[in-house]
Order: sequence, then structure tokens, then C-alpha cells
Amino acid sequence: MFGAILGTGCGAGIVVHGRVLDGPNAIAGEWGHNPLPWPRDDERPGAPCFCGQSGCIETWVSGTGLARDHADVTGRFLVAPDIVASATAGDPAARATLDRYLDRLARAVAHVINILDPDVIVLGGGMSNVDLLYSALPQRWGAWVFSDRVDTRLVRNVHGDSSGVRGAAWVGAEHGNPAGDR
Ligand SMILES: [Zn+2]
Repeated sequence: MFGAILGTGCGAGIVVHGRVLDGPNAIAGEWGHNPLPWPRDDERPGAPCFCGQSGCIETWVSGTGLARDHADVTGRFLVAPDIVASATAGDPAARATLDRYLDRLARAVAHVINILDPDVIVLGGGMSNVDLLYSALPQRWGAWVFSDRVDTRLVRNVHGDSSGVRGAAWVGAEHGNPAGDR
């Protein structure tokens, strides 16, 4: 299972056979600070990221990234939920922003499917409340996954859009640190 948190920032985790995958560097599942896969010419080098790189996945597929992209293209700043609401109401600029977002998120997730081939991808964070993701992403990721068919399921979190925080706290407690800080 690959869990992707699409909120103010963007994070992820991997669960294999019921256990969170860890590693010697404690960064298994680090997803947001890799570059956006298959970047288009106008996506390079991408916005500066706080991590020191530019064009990280986080700068595109977080709610913050969605808002920045919309502002860059339209000159109008709206927070992510307002962009989604405007798109749903039929605003052409907001629909175009959401379309670019879906295209980028499909690429970012397809890259993961190619490496992990997970049974399930679970979305969390504020963007996981966008119903459109669950129908649109599986329609789009096939173009990028190196397989004739993709049986990976995309599902919404069970514990609400703060499930990532909840999970981090849980793992932190397992490691003897209730703050979740590893
Ligand atoms: Zn980064």
C-alpha cells in the first residue's frame, strides 16, 4: 500500500504486509521531494521548494502547489478548495488548473506504481476530499504506467483528511516517541 498525503505539503508512506516500511535512512516513501516525473517544457525547472531543489512533486500536487499554479497562470490567488469549487461551478480557468493538477498527479502516482506496484493507493490530506480524483486519476495514470492494464485501486482514507498526522503519531508511538518525531 502506498499512502499519499496531499495537503499543505505532500508526503507518503509505504506499508508492506501490514507493516510500515522503514529503512536505514528513515525516508522510505519519501515522494514529495523527488522531481515531477515526465516534466513538460513549461514545468522546468519548476518553483523553488523549501528543501533547496526546484520542481519537487510537492510544489505541484500539494494544495499549496495547486493554488500557486492557479495564481501563476491566472494572476488570481485562490486557496485550493475555492479553485475546486470554482471548477465544479464551471469556471474555465479553474477547470484548466484542475486539469493540469490531475495530469501532474497522475504522472507522480504512475511513477510510484511503476516501482512499487501497490495493491492500493490511499489518499489523505485536504486534497483527498476532492471526489474527482478517484475517477480521474485511474483514467489518466494508464498513459504513464508501464503495463497494459493497471489494477491498483485508489481509495480515500478512512480516518479523515488528517489521517497522515494520525499515522505519523501512531508510528512515532511505536518507536517510543509519542510526538511522532523520528
Ligand atoms: Zn522539495
